[in-house]
Amino acid sequence: MTAGLHLARRGLSVLLLEADPNFPGGRLQGGAAVTLEHNGRTWSFPGEHGLHGVWGQYHNLRAMLAREDIDPGFVPAKEEAWILRHPKSAVQWTKGGSALRKSWIPAPFHYLALFIRPRFLQMLTLRDLASMFRVLGGLIFATAYDPAVEDARLDRFTLADFFKGWSPTLQSLFLGLARNFTSARPDQVPQAGFIAFLRFYTLLRRDAWRFNYFNRDSHSALIAPLQARIEAAGGKLQLGAQVTDLIRDGEGWRVQWQQPPSSEAVPEAENEISEANASHVILALDIPGARKLLTHSLSAHALTWSMAVPSVVVRYWFNRKPKGSSAEPEAGIFTGEFILDNYFWLHRIQAVFGDWSQVTGGSAVECHIYGPPEILLEPDAVLLARGLQDIGRVWPELRSALITQSIRRNAATHSLFSGNTDQGLSVQTPWSQLWACGDWVRYPHGSLYMERAVVTGLAAANGVLTAKNLPTYDIQPVDPPEILVRWIERLLRWVRRRARSYGQRREQN
Ligand SMILES: Cc1cc2nc3c(=O)[nH]c(=O)nc-3n(C[C@H](O)[C@H](O)[C@H](O)COP(=O)(O)OP(=O)(O)OC[C@H]3O[C@@H](n4cnc5c(N)ncnc54)[C@H](O)[C@@H]3O)c2cc1C
Repeated sequence: MTAGLHLARRGLSVLLLEADPNFPGGRLQGGAAVTLEHNGRTWSFPGEHGLHGVWGQYHNLRAMLAREDIDPGFVPAKEEAWILRHPKSAVQWTKGGSALRKSWIPAPFHYLALFIRPRFLQMLTLRDLASMFRVLGGLIFATAYDPAVEDARLDRFTLADFFKGWSPTLQSLFLGLARNFTSARPDQVPQAGFIAFLRFYTLLRRDAWRFNYFNRDSHSALIAPLQARIEAAGGKLQLGAQVTDLIRDGEGWRVQWQQPPSSEAVPEAENEISEANASHVILALDIPGARKLLTHSLSAHALTWSMAVPSVVVRYWFNRKPKGSSAEPEAGIFTGEFILDNYFWLHRIQAVFGDWSQVTGGSAVECHIYGPPEILLEPDAVLLARGLQDIGRVWPELRSALITQSIRRNAATHSLFSGNTDQGLSVQTPWSQLWACGDWVRYPHGSLYMERAVVTGLAAANGVLTAKNLPTYDIQPVDPPEILVRWIERLLRWVRRRARSYGQRREQN
């Protein structure tokens, strides 16, 4: 949508083909609403792929919103809890987010601010303290290597390798973070992806961890306004258009897609095939969609593909609010013996939930479940019941307070970033006048997720604009690391260079 909007703004004729028949926006799309009756009043809560956060370094997304005069209703994040449950032990928790973003200790040592929080210290054992140097070593290693920009040579290693020698509690904390950002298990997460996450969201700058939610569902806050801007600029968005073929046609392309039959009178009618010619095509697909299309149409067998993972999003409505200090953070992560991976108190974030809570005294929470695969195979009722049990473990006062619940299963389209590899698809594809964008697409910029989708969308649009001699758009860089990180980074890069040239000399001899 970023690419389409920016091309339409330059006066080009834009057609956006979206496979989903109901909602544009991919992993930010809307979904079926849940309705509730209370005292004769009907409340409707829009569904969505999952709550999203706009982080400190999302400069290009914010710049696009400012250019387009879109106000998504930012709600600043105040606090995130870390909730831990070891096997057979009680639940422990601490506030964490504010310690990181407000720490007076410069990056990359700002995590030490956690150690003046009594609840955090209570969660640690002597073994945790003894493994601190390994943890620090791992974090410092991550300052010297930028997998989002450099070609990845760590792609054989996973997070499980990165955590070797760490104590169970500290592993659990960072694992929780990794799961929440990558939605995958440690043996699935490429080390390069984890390092890219650490660098972009927390390691290099304290303010990178400052973030905002939208005060409404992602469709209303972001996707619907983007669609309106595209259409106002003369672009066209077609839903239910599954692109099946790309055929070279002179210098440009012929694009074929399938769509449901236009006549409702013949319910069993086959999908209709349509096609259009275009001088340039931008692929803005998820990983499985791009892989299927390019392998089929262009025999792109030499390309390598990152993994894409599924997720489950559950929501619970309660007739009362959670109590006590553990209810103060509006969001948090679960680690250890929980099926849930995170939570967001929706009545503290989204306006419609807030209004409902004020009138009824109720509360509502969204939680994500990222796996493992055998858990995601459980039936809906089992996942909902086990999630509710987790909530009850942390907030026992909600145990018999459930009003209603919902579950949404997201297909395996979420990108597991694995760094830049030579064989991955990049914005400028191997085929002329065919471009690619998306949060998994190769481009030398240290951003991830929504911001990376916007950055690569701008870069792909710029490719087309350059070819047509039209003015391009600026892409804002990631903020530089804090000064101490810069020194450490320079020192470690110098060591890496020396080690490499020493190795080469030995090989020559
Ligand atoms: C539960 C969850 C929570 C998240 N939270 C955050 C967050 O807090 N912050 C953040 O920055 N990011 C978050 N993300 C990630 C974020 O949603 C993505 O990074 C972003 O939406 C990626 O956009 P994209 O355009 O690259 O891909 P997508 O949004 O996946 O879009 C790809 C589109 O291609 C379409 N498509 C595929 N094949 C075809 C075809 N053959 N023909 C036509 N169309 C096709 C799909 O239908 C889809 O609309 C989250 C993701 C999930 C799953």
